[in-house]
Amino acid sequence: MQDHIMDRRNAQPLISVVAPFYNEELVIDQFFRQVIAVLEATGSEWEIVCVDDGSRDRTLDQLLAAARANPAIKVLQLSRNFGKEAALTAGLEASGGDVVVLIDADLQDPPTLISQMLEKWREGFDVVYGVRQSRDQDSLAKRVTARGFYRVFNQLTPTPLPANAGDFRLMDRRVVDRVRQLPERTRFMKGLFAWVGFRSTAVAYDRPGRQAGQSGWSYWKLWNFALDGLTSFSTMPLRVWTYVGLTVSLLAFLYASFLVLRTLVAGVDLPGYASLMVVMLFLGGIQLISLGVIGEYLGRVFIEVKQRPVYLVDRVYQFPAGQSESRDGPA
Ligand code: UDP
Ligand code: MG
Repeated sequence: MQDHIMDRRNAQPLISVVAPFYNEELVIDQFFRQVIAVLEATGSEWEIVCVDDGSRDRTLDQLLAAARANPAIKVLQLSRNFGKEAALTAGLEASGGDVVVLIDADLQDPPTLISQMLEKWREGFDVVYGVRQSRDQDSLAKRVTARGFYRVFNQLTPTPLPANAGDFRLMDRRVVDRVRQLPERTRFMKGLFAWVGFRSTAVAYDRPGRQAGQSGWSYWKLWNFALDGLTSFSTMPLRVWTYVGLTVSLLAFLYASFLVLRTLVAGVDLPGYASLMVVMLFLGGIQLISLGVIGEYLGRVFIEVKQRPVYLVDRVYQFPAGQSESRDGPA
């Protein structure tokens, strides 16, 4: 272990930067300018793996233009929009660096932080993740729901998620390989990163607003993302129904005993429409909710057993210096 750490002190690792792009035509020039400046300053070899996640604007053209100008830029074109988690998975699999940095294309993750992350890596950390110091740019509603999500997630799952850490992080090759080995289709990346563990540390930063373009996240998408995360890492929502059922049964038994006794003592008492209705509706509701929860899990089991790939690559582009050909990538 010590040796491993000592090795890193002087090492000039190959750095892979992986960035997902979905309709980011407005920020691409700035993105490359800033990221390349930071990478050049490290003195290491580097590559940038750009994943075009089925953009419908001129993102791909612009990525290709950048790749033609620089042989260290590789472009993965997915066959359609698969979502950020799938795009990141694709990028990780295509990256070859000794360290891999995941970064958003919209410059909300400041590229200047990469050198700090690299320093921490040299100190011996395998994972260095960015933590948002402030969420000033986010709306109140987003901040409240985000805080609620982290709280619920950390209560329900044995895999603690660091609050306010996104996907912006540097990982050692060993960690990347372990993440790639995880076979699940539901790629809740933050959770997977937390699950694999390794020596991790945080670097704090202020998250600026988007440079340009629009966030692809609606509240409905975020809600489904949160459900994916919770159901991938906790079976608590399933198991809780055993206890709800036991509690309701116990109450029902007590009430039934009371009714039997009362009937024996005071005789039959027919009116009871209201209480019957209340009990019926209550139990009906509880049963439907628990069925719904089972459905959430069953649907996800269904998706997992189909074993469809997480993403499909249409083409991989990389232009050797001085040439401008493309080559077809693996599907
Ligand atoms: N992104 C993607 N596929 C999608 C949505 C987003 O690859 O379907 C990329 C997007 O181009 C950006 C990153 O994921 O680089 C973060 O997206 P966004 O800025 O929309 O999310 P936010 O910063 O609002 O969380
Ligand atoms: Mg963003």
